[in-house]
Amino acid sequence: MSRKRMKLLVDSLTRSSKHFNKSEVECLVNLFDTLVAKASSHFAGAGFDRTVFRDTLHSAFGLTDEVMLDRVFSTFDRSNTGSITVVEWVEGLGVLLRGTLEEKMKYCFAIYDLNGDGYISREEMFQMLKNSLLIQPADEEPDEGVKDLVEIALKKMDYDHDGKLSFMDFEKAVREESLLLEAFGPCLPDIKSIIAFEQKVFRETPK
Ligand code: CA
Ligand code: CA
Repeated sequence: MSRKRMKLLVDSLTRSSKHFNKSEVECLVNLFDTLVAKASSHFAGAGFDRTVFRDTLHSAFGLTDEVMLDRVFSTFDRSNTGSITVVEWVEGLGVLLRGTLEEKMKYCFAIYDLNGDGYISREEMFQMLKNSLLIQPADEEPDEGVKDLVEIALKKMDYDHDGKLSFMDFEKAVREESLLLEAFGPCLPDIKSIIAFEQKVFRETPK
């Protein structure tokens, strides 16, 4: 990328970013370029693919759950093209690293609403909880235990008793008990890996 194009890109991303200053945006764009170089060639220039995204989030933030990582990818990939553009990258990281509670609630809800219909259904909860419990030792009737958990989650979070979680249900529950933000699977980095990531990425002096 030419210097002039880079400068225009950084300026425009800085204007639209709520969370990063200009030199931080520059560092994130440099990291983006490194990741694009790693990605399969037909994406070159436009973005990087799912595999590079998963590897990066795995090593930077210790996110290992495959199902959740796929959902994180889809949430970053707003334009639904199968690759992450520089705009999606900077916006997504803004939420992961420095998002407000409001932004994080929207992000987690979008992750957990697997089919994107605006509700977290019983079936979706079941699928996610079953996936995150697979690491536990095998039970006699593992599905029964997961079903119980779904009912417990509904009892705690389904304020309007319609058998599914709307964003309003989710928001109210999380405001009362912040641990419920990641009730259905880990999808946010912990504070330690955020600090480590920022120290590593933002320390590098931009070219
Ligand atoms: Ca849904
Ligand atoms: Ca409800």
